[in-house]
Amino acid sequence: MNADDTAVAPQLLAALRGRVDARFEAVKAAFIENLRIPSVKGEPACTAPYGAEVARALQHVRATAESLGLRAEVIDDRLVAADAGDAEPYVAAVPHVDVVPPGEGWTHPPFGAEVDGDRVYARGAADDKGAVFASLLAAAAIGDLLADGTLALPRRVRVLVGGDEESGMSCVQHYAARRPAPVFAFTPDGRWPAAQAERGRAEIHLEGDVPTSGELYVERLVAGLAANVVPASARGRLGGSEQGLAGASEALERYWDRNLQFTRTADGLELEAIGKGAHAAEAFTGDSAAVRLLRAVVAAEPDARKSWEKLLKLCDPTGGGLGLADYDPLSGATSSNLGLLSVDGGTLRMVFDVRYPVVRSPAWVAERTAKPVADAGLRRVAIRHMPALYHAIDGPLLSTVMAVYRAESDEGEPAFCMGGRTYASFVPNCVAVGAGMPGEQRGGIHSNDEYSTFTSLRRNAEILAHLLVRLAKTPLVDASG
Ligand SMILES: [Zn+2]
Repeated sequence: MNADDTAVAPQLLAALRGRVDARFEAVKAAFIENLRIPSVKGEPACTAPYGAEVARALQHVRATAESLGLRAEVIDDRLVAADAGDAEPYVAAVPHVDVVPPGEGWTHPPFGAEVDGDRVYARGAADDKGAVFASLLAAAAIGDLLADGTLALPRRVRVLVGGDEESGMSCVQHYAARRPAPVFAFTPDGRWPAAQAERGRAEIHLEGDVPTSGELYVERLVAGLAANVVPASARGRLGGSEQGLAGASEALERYWDRNLQFTRTADGLELEAIGKGAHAAEAFTGDSAAVRLLRAVVAAEPDARKSWEKLLKLCDPTGGGLGLADYDPLSGATSSNLGLLSVDGGTLRMVFDVRYPVVRSPAWVAERTAKPVADAGLRRVAIRHMPALYHAIDGPLLSTVMAVYRAESDEGEPAFCMGGRTYASFVPNCVAVGAGMPGEQRGGIHSNDEYSTFTSLRRNAEILAHLLVRLAKTPLVDASG
């Protein structure tokens, strides 16, 4: 058998495009409706584990799928499964309908879905509701051809729309624990052609003891929103004797950092540092306010300098201080972020988010961090692992994705490694592909004025339909051998 046996015939591709065209206006209207649902994770309720708006967005997806002739159900209020065909094993597209909060700086209302020519502006337009509706459109086109006998497939085509991608991916973990796995799947939540690998992630929780009295001591530190965000602000307070605090004040006068402010109060010294937020997968593009604060403590604390310097050393964004600096050509270099820092009641806590090359394992992380952490006088309370993900380039899933990409685009980009993590971490046999057209940069995701285009919706639906049909026929073992 050679690879061409699963190629989709040109007349079948033309028929799929015809059905995408026929269904396009209805899907475009539903896409705009859904963009007006602010599906940010909210307070859980009994039939809405991710809050009322995510539940509403999931119900809207189900109703849209049914109106397109797909068989759809909301599974345990967490995700929607919409099927074309009824063969038992299945292949799946796995986008998500939840969105991150809009944040500041929008010139278009974030849930207004304002249309300007080919563009539509809304939180979720590019991440990832465009892909939700492109996937439904693709499945509906396939469903139409199955129904009229133009197409027969040995596997069912499923669109699985998650409701909790942005904060924990519990939706697909819930699903994977209860339902049979897809034979092949992709998550259209990245860029084309495919994420061959996703770097490993380790969330490292450390704890230590610090003095709560003396001439000068760190009474309180607090920085960070989440492990995966570089802290943009940090605060602290030093306590001690009159003499100790005066000395610290003088030391900080000499220590110059424009992004650090300190204020002497009656019985302490208040510190405040400003930095720049960034994603932990690219920690070096940010500027950690937590690290600025630790540097100021080192400058202010001559007696305890050594122990604070050891803590500071752990915070190197290359991961070097934790023993995790590494590189491979596919993954690039390690990225390490001190996401959370606190001192309270004599206990110091640090949480690091480290993204490491795909050639390394959780065991490597555990082994390498033991000594640097002990040397800094800290304890490892927990390490939460998300092992690296890697797909063989000549395996059936990735070689099919690449074949479809080459047939649909003349870009010729290679598969790449992602620093962030996707549903592919939790859905078996799943790879991350593009959320829009090949060559397209996603506009404003996790930022202001997010947008997508209707051209992108239509093109992606055509490509996803092609990919779903081909995956439904791809043999499990590598056909090239
Ligand atoms: Zn996404």
